[in-house]
Amino acid sequence: MSQFVITDNVRREDQKKVMDEIAAQKHCPFCPENLAKYHKNPILKEGKFWTFTDNQWPYEKVKHQLLAIYKTHIEHIKEMNPAAGAELIQFFQEETVRRNIPGGVLAIRFGSNPEHGSYGNSVLHIHAHMIEPDLDALANDEGWKMKFGQSKNYKKG
Ligand SMILES: [Zn+2]
Repeated sequence: MSQFVITDNVRREDQKKVMDEIAAQKHCPFCPENLAKYHKNPILKEGKFWTFTDNQWPYEKVKHQLLAIYKTHIEHIKEMNPAAGAELIQFFQEETVRRNIPGGVLAIRFGSNPEHGSYGNSVLHIHAHMIEPDLDALANDEGWKMKFGQSKNYKKG
């Protein structure tokens, strides 16, 4: 049985409860047949390659956090149809206009490396983030951060 979620990478308590349930079910929360069970935000658009929505578990200090979920179960970028990249960029471009987003970040974590740790993804099914950090919410010397790697030797607390 392959692993679909990495609960160590869950950031929020409300998210952890749902993710523990998903882990117990041993299925993928981002596969189309399961998505509606766990994802409660409206779907903004169904593309050919992606389902677009707002992230249900946004980071702190963000103005927008959009989520694009690949419509078939793949975990590595090498499995992605390159045309999916064009659809992704086009949708995110449209949303920056619609939401008047002056800047931000795009992020796609991919793959896994359980012997050594993880790349920060809590769900291995390929998904993409577009995030506008809330610059006014940051302290003077605070950088807005997103985790892209963690050693398996890391212990919380
Ligand atoms: Zn999946």
